[in-house]
Amino acid sequence: MTSAAAAGRPAVAWPGARTELVGVVGDPVRHSLSPLLHNAAFAALGLDWAYVAFPVARSELAVALAGARALGLRGLSVTMPHKEAIARAADQRSRAVERLGAANTVVLRSGIAVAETTDGVGLLDDLREGAGFDASGLRCAVVGAGGAARAVVLALAEAGARSVVVVNRTADRAAQAAALAGSAGRVGTPGELADVALVVQATPAGMPGAASGAARPGEPARPGLAVAALARRLGAGQLVVDLVYHPPMTPFLAEAASRGATVRNGLGMLVHQAAHQCSLWTGESAPLEAMWAAVGGRTAGRPVEP
Ligand code: NAP
Repeated sequence: MTSAAAAGRPAVAWPGARTELVGVVGDPVRHSLSPLLHNAAFAALGLDWAYVAFPVARSELAVALAGARALGLRGLSVTMPHKEAIARAADQRSRAVERLGAANTVVLRSGIAVAETTDGVGLLDDLREGAGFDASGLRCAVVGAGGAARAVVLALAEAGARSVVVVNRTADRAAQAAALAGSAGRVGTPGELADVALVVQATPAGMPGAASGAARPGEPARPGLAVAALARRLGAGQLVVDLVYHPPMTPFLAEAASRGATVRNGLGMLVHQAAHQCSLWTGESAPLEAMWAAVGGRTAGRPVEP
């Protein structure tokens, strides 16, 4: 039996005339795990839906959104470099998107494009499911102040964290990110990481090829924060998360784990943010077991030392 038939889809000629389409726009995007996750979810739900990757250059985003509307796509995932531009281009924005100025999801209904963000809630869901962690009343810290860090800062504040300390290479970006947490947020120093219950590493520093002087396109190279060295301040009783999931065990996580911290990589955030997207588009409860299975199972979100 084909996987289409197993999922209750027509066994012949799938995708067909009634297949609903969603996809991810980004540049680059051919490496994305999102098609695996979402197609597994649609199959498990028995939906005649398909998800594909659309490489879209920065200059083509508005045209791509207009095309998605015209072609009747049900929604889009949105990744770099389009997260800010899609928030501006959408017809409506969720409250969190208004605050962040960025979105990772578009829901298309009757031609209306609604921008949503699922990254922050996705991380918190993963921490609850995978580590039994609830931020309410706890001191938390975020390393980094880019799009992912900002989404996490806002989500932690909305979950009732007692404080959210932001540690970042560039001070003004740290202040802007911390402001998202209102009175709970402030800019902190590396020394403060030892005193919090949760540390979220939200820079690309643990990815292969991430140079210590990495900068945004058009900006001069700058020395990086010594991210892996920050983990020397961490230890037992702390939950430490790296949003990077390739490699599964980053130098930051390995250092924190060697000092007794509980560590988790960013794969669970990827799964749970996709689960929220699936629910927003389809109105169904997302099939988490099938989605985890598509990316290697729950243990893949639990890094083990090599
Ligand atoms: P971004 O908007 O470009 O922000 C990057 C942040 O990292 C900035 O605060 C930047 O500091 C800092 N940074 C960059 N290189 C650095 C270095 N070498 N040393 C120290 N700090 C450095 O990126 P993003 O979208 O937030 O993504 C951040 C990471 O999260 C990426 O690795 C991405 O793959 C990952 N992510 C994972 C998920 C998931 O589902 N698991 C979702 C989203 C993102 P400055 O402000 O000083 O420039």
